[in-house]
Amino acid sequence: MPMVIGITCGWDDNSGRYYLNSLYARAITAAGGTPVLIPDCLERGETQQLLSMVGGLLLTGGGDVDPVYFGEEPLPPCGEITPARDAFEIELVRMSLAADLPILGICRGAQVLNIAAGGDIYQDINTQIKGSLRHQQRAPLWAPTHNIQIRPDTRLMTILQEKTVRVNSFHHQAVRNPAPGFVVCALANDGVIEAIESTTHRFALGIQCHPEGMWEKDPRFLKLFRALVEAGRGN
Ligand code: MN
Repeated sequence: MPMVIGITCGWDDNSGRYYLNSLYARAITAAGGTPVLIPDCLERGETQQLLSMVGGLLLTGGGDVDPVYFGEEPLPPCGEITPARDAFEIELVRMSLAADLPILGICRGAQVLNIAAGGDIYQDINTQIKGSLRHQQRAPLWAPTHNIQIRPDTRLMTILQEKTVRVNSFHHQAVRNPAPGFVVCALANDGVIEAIESTTHRFALGIQCHPEGMWEKDPRFLKLFRALVEAGRGN
């Protein structure tokens, strides 16, 4: 049986187009899954129907999340927001968590996962975390630029089987307080939260780096997508 994985995508207001870096879809294919794109125009009932057809959800990267979703006004360094995408994805994640559908959140997707589950994020780690490292790398997507330390006894450790992994980094926001029932499973050396996971769901993992940009050169990162597809199969 094909294991269908729903993938969120971006929206370009100017051209009226949805967009997705093909690396996400190809990672799902390489991991043995069948990718399906989920547009943010769906009504609640349509979303419910679509969720009944997929075995897992991949939340992709993108712009900043509107801080209104975690009870804050926007600070000056808060970046461009996409209101329709925010509203849709937060509802999508809440419905998926309620259905215990496996979820992998990448970059913005990790932040959306945390916010939808009741946590919050830093709007801008550069100004809000003293002594933070460079998390907006000036290097190609595939290039790792900082280490993360993975905590023992976490799902992420079970997947990657390494205490220290060097990852790419293209974010200026990060999880501040993990949502209830979620724990931190990886930190950068400056204390920035690089991954969170649920302790109460089958599989709900958010990671701040972009494994879709690394797996072709470093197959270790494909393990994250395999874990999502396998969770969808009930493994
Ligand atoms: Mn980082």
